[in-house]
Amino acid sequence: MTLANGRHYLAIPGPSVMPDRVLQAMHRAAPNIYRGEMPDMVHTIVPDLKAVAKTKHHVAMYISNGHGVWEAALVNCFSRGDKVLVLSTGRFGTGWGDMAARLGIETQVLDFGYTSDVDLNRLEEALAADTDKQIKGVLMVQVDTSTSVKNNVLGVREALDAADHPALLLCDNIASLGCDEFRMDDWGVDVMVTGCQKGLMTPPGMSFVYFNDRANAARDKADLVTPYWDWQMRIDPDYFYEYFFGTAPTHHLYGLRVALDMIVHEEGIEAVWNRHKVLAEAVWAALEVWGQAGPVRPNIAERDKRSHAVTLANFGPGNGLKLRNWMEQSYGVTLGIPLEGVESADDFLRIGHMGHVNGQMVLGVLAGLQAGMTALQIPHGPTGLEAAMKVIAEAT
Ligand SMILES: *Cc1c(COP(=O)(O)O)cnc(C)c1O
Repeated sequence: MTLANGRHYLAIPGPSVMPDRVLQAMHRAAPNIYRGEMPDMVHTIVPDLKAVAKTKHHVAMYISNGHGVWEAALVNCFSRGDKVLVLSTGRFGTGWGDMAARLGIETQVLDFGYTSDVDLNRLEEALAADTDKQIKGVLMVQVDTSTSVKNNVLGVREALDAADHPALLLCDNIASLGCDEFRMDDWGVDVMVTGCQKGLMTPPGMSFVYFNDRANAARDKADLVTPYWDWQMRIDPDYFYEYFFGTAPTHHLYGLRVALDMIVHEEGIEAVWNRHKVLAEAVWAALEVWGQAGPVRPNIAERDKRSHAVTLANFGPGNGLKLRNWMEQSYGVTLGIPLEGVESADDFLRIGHMGHVNGQMVLGVLAGLQAGMTALQIPHGPTGLEAAMKVIAEAT
């Protein structure tokens, strides 16, 4: 028999769970895009987007997914033949670097594999070896969703400063903005890219490039910049139409407005980070206890290097696939698949705990995993769920 026939829960690392209020805000007739409520509302979105990233600088909005703003960031910063240093800690770091190479940017890749964060010593060596400062930019990912590693963004900035290196620091926060702590200005990030369908709890379709004046100066020299992806007009509040280089994504904006109300004005960004932290710790506690008497282990060994938004875990040979199927078909929860690059992919699954997620949802997923392991006879420490409950009890 199956117990999956209630309200299904998609617990993958994006698109994330969207609040009903966000969806309801989008369910309306088309607004006038030239005057009145819609352009007025867009102007209120810009400061709240900045608040989420802890920045006073600029944010350009695009009708695109995350891959679109990877390209937008690159073309505004670089020229053909420029060199960038790519810090790869999984599929997404590698993917952004590959895109740079296809644009004609020379890439030097530091590959840290699928189970580690950026090794700052190796970064320091690479910067020190660049004596004539040929590296124009460093590309990194705060949370690589494929491995669930969290990188030390401030550490990368400090390495650049210690080497007195002028390269721009570009950071992909598509999985982490609105989940993991991030302070664009304090951490010296020059360019940050993110999308709306993960921590920002809005349907896929809008993405953002944040940049400071140093990056904006680079744009004046970048020969890759094209009219549509140029970030210049997209930051000019006098031209509503230009914000989007054409028709605005009207309904996404209604949804995003509500999501930002919830994150910035109701819960508060620090509380949002904290909620994600506690829920992530509940997931880790369960995994660690299950692993005491079975093959279960989180992909990233050290807690302070784990994402608060997503967890990749190994459940033993073939068990990731079996458990995912059981969760979906027998229990009503869809978990994330491992992405390309993960070895023995059938051993793994990913748990999304990003966005509009609370205690009962995460405990429900963990209870399902524990029940599934029992049903499938996967050995595990029997009190994983209790360990997760204890985390939640103590945090509240
Ligand atoms: C989801 C994700 C992307 C890709 O975003 P799309 O909207 O699917 O194009 C890039 N980087 C990271 C870290 C992500 O999590």
